[in-house]
Amino acid sequence: MSAAGHEGERHVESACPLDCPDACSLDVTVAGGRVVAVGGSEKNPVTRGYICAKVRRYPEHMYGEARILHPGIRAGRKGEGVFRQASWDEALGLVAERLKAVRAGRGGEAILPLSYGGSNGYISQDTTDARLFYRLGASRLLRTVCAAPSGAAAKGLYGKMPGVAYQDYAHAKLVIVWGMNPSVSGIHIVPYIQQAQKKGARLVIVDPRRTRLAESADLHLAPRPGTDLPLALALIRWLFAEGRADREFLARDAHGAEELERRARPWTIERAAAECGVAAADIEALARLYADTNPAALRCGWGPERNRNGGSAIAAILALPAVAGKFGVRGGGYTLSNSGAWKEIDGMAAAAEPEPATRQINMNRLGAALTEKGPRSVDLLFVYNANPLMTMPDQERVRAGLEREDLFTVVFDPVMTDTARYADVVLPAATFLERTELSRGYGAFVLQRAAAVAAPAGEARPNHEVFADLCRRTGVARPGDAESAEEIAGAILASSRRGPDLGRELAKNGIAFLEEGVAPVQFVDAFPRTPDGKIHLVPEALDREAPHGLYHYEPEPAGSRFPLALISPATDRTISSTLGELRRAAVPVALHPDDARARGVENGDRVRVYNELGSVRCRARVDTGIRPGVVFLPKGLWSHNTESGTTANALSPDTLTDLGGGACFNDARVEVERLGGA
Ligand code: SF4
Repeated sequence: MSAAGHEGERHVESACPLDCPDACSLDVTVAGGRVVAVGGSEKNPVTRGYICAKVRRYPEHMYGEARILHPGIRAGRKGEGVFRQASWDEALGLVAERLKAVRAGRGGEAILPLSYGGSNGYISQDTTDARLFYRLGASRLLRTVCAAPSGAAAKGLYGKMPGVAYQDYAHAKLVIVWGMNPSVSGIHIVPYIQQAQKKGARLVIVDPRRTRLAESADLHLAPRPGTDLPLALALIRWLFAEGRADREFLARDAHGAEELERRARPWTIERAAAECGVAAADIEALARLYADTNPAALRCGWGPERNRNGGSAIAAILALPAVAGKFGVRGGGYTLSNSGAWKEIDGMAAAAEPEPATRQINMNRLGAALTEKGPRSVDLLFVYNANPLMTMPDQERVRAGLEREDLFTVVFDPVMTDTARYADVVLPAATFLERTELSRGYGAFVLQRAAAVAAPAGEARPNHEVFADLCRRTGVARPGDAESAEEIAGAILASSRRGPDLGRELAKNGIAFLEEGVAPVQFVDAFPRTPDGKIHLVPEALDREAPHGLYHYEPEPAGSRFPLALISPATDRTISSTLGELRRAAVPVALHPDDARARGVENGDRVRVYNELGSVRCRARVDTGIRPGVVFLPKGLWSHNTESGTTANALSPDTLTDLGGGACFNDARVEVERLGGA
């Protein structure tokens, strides 16, 4: 696993479990017991030895000023971030006492555990933590801030069929990237797209911004945020109306084609063009290109889901390759998330406790949950693998909840996040390079296992150890519970059909691939995982769940007070809020020159971006790369990135998507005003 480098240095293999599709294999340089550099290794054949700029700075995350080195107990006002150092015994004793007291007094449902994608590793989430909170009868969190609508759509239509592998994009003659910016997020697909382009493939980008890839695209459609649904329905309508639908394939392999055709019928290209703010000729050009070109690969991102129509939009986009008959060839089909591809592994297997039927709280409505008073109030919040003050919608309501003096908040994290500053107890968490982890990609089809490469900084401890300790202290531990990383990994791998073989493969190589192969072809090696193995274009369950039925379009919510659509996509530094402490620079809001001129705003001016929920003070960046009527503040910012300490989330409503209870970040409508001062 390791090889000697310069004197005193070792190179150790690891794997990245952060919330990113790619799952890079890593080459970590260790010297003097500390991590001094992180780079890519060749072990994962998809990520091929390079990693993002963000994780290259991981040593600063591990050993920087923001690192929490010891447990702490609040010694100031909530939000001040002032703590006195405590021993693990004192801190965990206090947390266990409060967990027991809340459960005995108000019942387990007054406890809310909150975790998300701070680590997508199997060992650091849904193991001893789930066991603790299930056995305490805590409220259950719906982890819906991202991918819930798209996951619901993909499951309903295809049963989460594995997607086109990144490397197979090199075989496509047409690549469509819809609602995603792979130059900054899921970066390892880009060289394969460029390979395809070098061989003459056409590239189409659908994105309200002119992204880096859009610069080299043959066609760039920039629909208004929230209008991906009518755009996709217009393409579907055109394919049926022009005799370009693959009716033979649909009759054999799909249900619901006629109903889909009926629902798409109102969306002529002209009507969609008016709604989306895109030229009708461009929509027709895309329809023709898609119908005429094989193989055609569609990379669908998560941008189209973040609005009131998000679930239906993703369903309509994913229906396109079925309607146009694009499966059955290498380089043809679609890619969304491959999180369901490792279907044989039960990530909850080590919890050793069935999920209780306690109340569920949608994380997108965290502010409402934390500010609710009376018998259903949350009295104890336990945050880990997450920074909810910066990542949940309706930020000011989340903050109001965290400020409650009668809320006991525990934050267990490697660094002092904005949320941790509101904690009553902070606990130092080990980073993924300081513990054993088992993780899968949700873009690349890999499962990787990595041991700790360095000792935890300070007194940091791995998640699974701390939650196992809390199980014992609260009296819910049972003999035979899997507690060590080895036992937990063993229980998870034992849930696989491949059983010990998979464990042996990982022990030998550190990496394993899907049963379907390294790069399965849709409708050749990989098939819909629906109960009857067919595509369901209008699945009954989704049709029932969507308030007005699947593929129903809710129009633009902007009014005259707040006419600008705010989007908050990833950038190369801010894919999620993880590692946000490393990016100290002030971040501007981007707006189109027409919108800037109409408001007397010039590049670099101080501005206030505001709506009825809150406001953000920052600088303006006048940008021709964004469509008129849309403004852009990146997601994943921390309070230090803006003058007001608020971010795009302060302007995001806590309304939910039509499917999956997802977040409607892109339904934020705002106004921008110029402020005085230098
Ligand atoms: S965040 Fe993504 S691109 Fe960066 S190292 Fe991890 S897996 Fe690779």
